[in-house]
Amino acid sequence: MNYRRLGRSGLQISELSVGSWVTYGNQVDHRLARESLAAARDHGVNFFDNAEVYAKGQSEAIMGRALKELAWPRVDYVVSTKFFFGLNQAPNQHQTLNRKYLHNAIDGSLARLQLDYVDLVFCHRPDPHTPIEETVWAMSDIIARGKALYWGTSEWSADEIRAAHEIAERHHLRKPVMEQPEYNLLHRKRVEREYARLYEDIGLGLTTWSPLASGLLTGKYRNGVPEGSRAQVQGYEWLRERLTDAGRNGIVGRLAEVSDDLGCTLAQLSIAWILKNPHVSTVLTGASRTEQIRENMKAVEIVGKLTPEVMERIEAIVGKVAA
Ligand code: NDP
Repeated sequence: MNYRRLGRSGLQISELSVGSWVTYGNQVDHRLARESLAAARDHGVNFFDNAEVYAKGQSEAIMGRALKELAWPRVDYVVSTKFFFGLNQAPNQHQTLNRKYLHNAIDGSLARLQLDYVDLVFCHRPDPHTPIEETVWAMSDIIARGKALYWGTSEWSADEIRAAHEIAERHHLRKPVMEQPEYNLLHRKRVEREYARLYEDIGLGLTTWSPLASGLLTGKYRNGVPEGSRAQVQGYEWLRERLTDAGRNGIVGRLAEVSDDLGCTLAQLSIAWILKNPHVSTVLTGASRTEQIRENMKAVEIVGKLTPEVMERIEAIVGKVAA
């Protein structure tokens, strides 16, 4: 496993990491979580991603219990959580980044995770109804109170990220150091175009999500929906249409010819392709089974096979900056 700096911060994180969206609380209980976290760590993973809203808090509780049982030294691993969506619909507890919500949310997450602090805390989406200045002060205060070490954003526009950075600079507050955007072979525009100036200008780091587009980029949906897959998880029916889309599965079929020629799986090729982008600090992977973790971690061995010729072949299939 290689370790990359999280943007311009000094924090080193494994270039492959593991997150808990959909899986923890729906497909993965605390025993399986413990097993898969241990498998990831055996491969050198030191970063585990979570969010308050995942499985309505259950995902944090499961990860917290698993981490407690694993009893690793706290300095050895990095944990994140994210705030915005909230756990109920009440005012100041739902789809907001106001000071009151953030002030309370961090304590709830720390209790569920059974941790004294999280390493990274993200604003899970932008909130057009709260001044960015209020959010920057609140995030900076969370760090000042020792409850998180670094803060960042998820799916904010380049303009919003730059505004937050400038406010923090003006008031000598903690600056956002990372963004968590979707990035995979079928979803590229934001990372490759919209954020292009931010890497140099403010040293933005990226913890990218859905490297396999929820499993589509394994090729497993080419012949329908397999038993026990994400497309069958209750509450995620909206994903099914995207996962079974004929056009997208056509592209996947052509990509599978490339991975076959390289002697790796399509999942490994898709993850290795993301690792080729030097602006990516870590690729957040997801897994409903421990075998998937083992397969996906081997992507680090495939990066060297992605020669300029192979990259051009992939580019010809997915089209320049596809989406
Ligand atoms: P992926 O796109 O990699 O999808 C992961 C899913 O694909 C697995 O749960 C599994 O689903 C299937 N899969 C993974 N590997 C294999 C394999 N080798 N063979 C077959 N199937 C496989 O990642 P996620 O969408 O899970 O995103 C990763 C992480 O990113 C999340 O856990 C979360 O931490 C973060 N995230 C952040 C978001 C944000 O807004 N900030 C949004 C979404 C994710 P199954 O077996 O059930 O089919």
